Amino acid sequence: MSVALFALGGTISVAGRARGERLTGAEIIAAVPGLDRLGPALDVRDVHAVPSGSLTFAQVLDVVDEASRAVEAGAVGVVVTQGTDTLEETAFLADLVWRHEAPFVLTGAMRQPAMAGADGPANVLAAVSVAASGAARGLGALVAFNDELHAARWVRKSHSTSTAAFVSAGAGPVGHVVEGRVRVLAAPPRRAPLPGAPDRARLAAARVGLHCVSLDDDGGLLEDVADTHTGLVVAGFGAGHVPGPLAPVLGALARRIPVVLTSRTGSGPVLRHTYRAPGSETDLQERGLINGGLLDPYKARVLLRLLLANGAGRDEVTAAFAAHG
Ligand code: GLU
Repeated sequence: MSVALFALGGTISVAGRARGERLTGAEIIAAVPGLDRLGPALDVRDVHAVPSGSLTFAQVLDVVDEASRAVEAGAVGVVVTQGTDTLEETAFLADLVWRHEAPFVLTGAMRQPAMAGADGPANVLAAVSVAASGAARGLGALVAFNDELHAARWVRKSHSTSTAAFVSAGAGPVGHVVEGRVRVLAAPPRRAPLPGAPDRARLAAARVGLHCVSLDDDGGLLEDVADTHTGLVVAGFGAGHVPGPLAPVLGALARRIPVVLTSRTGSGPVLRHTYRAPGSETDLQERGLINGGLLDPYKARVLLRLLLANGAGRDEVTAAFAAHG
């Protein structure tokens, strides 16, 4: 039995104070007490050694492709170690295209290996337990962190330094790892993966902006966005609202590119038919904005970019957000 482990850099790999010094995947796992007693052999691959804010969609999709090949060659599961800053986005990206029963588990660390109370080793131990566990099969991409297990579609980094930074607001963790035992308590229904591996040239051409609305926002930043981008996600107030004067600006954009409406609050849905004022969810949908449902702005941007990279038109984008949102 083997688990394929892909090392992508991040805090878990920071070796020392010198700029650029990183631990390899083999060095990361060598520091994990009890890993050798867990069972699966680890097939470790060093892919990138970067802060996670420097990862690209293409790099993550390449890792998913390589992970697919590892599973087809017999690995029971996959672990990815990376930086925590974009973990919530890379996890959802992988989840949208992962078509295996084998668990795809992402983890990292909030404290560097040389710091007191470094959390990387415990997180790797939990992640490997999950990747090898029958209990996690069929759940898609999961984040194992702080002995909790989070579904890719819900998980958020909610604190800049805490070792308990990862939460699933409004849903809760799907399970936990205690005494090495993986227990799944509740898992969201698995959506069908998106069709086809996105063509990398189309992926590069699919440029999706994200605009977070704020008090008295005049939309000045959005003026030329349809000339430079092929899609836009709006993080609106509350249940999907924007200042009244911004509504026609967004409506004009929605006639040119898909514009997806989400909430900047961090949890809860965008409403569909409760408010009617200019800039309300009803007004914005009548102007052509697509309802992002329960997806937060970052995850909505991941989905929209993948859809556009797959050549989806407006109707397919709307249908996909109805299914995934
Ligand atoms: N927290 C950063 C990340 O998400 C770590 C930065 C680094 O690895 O240098 O990757």
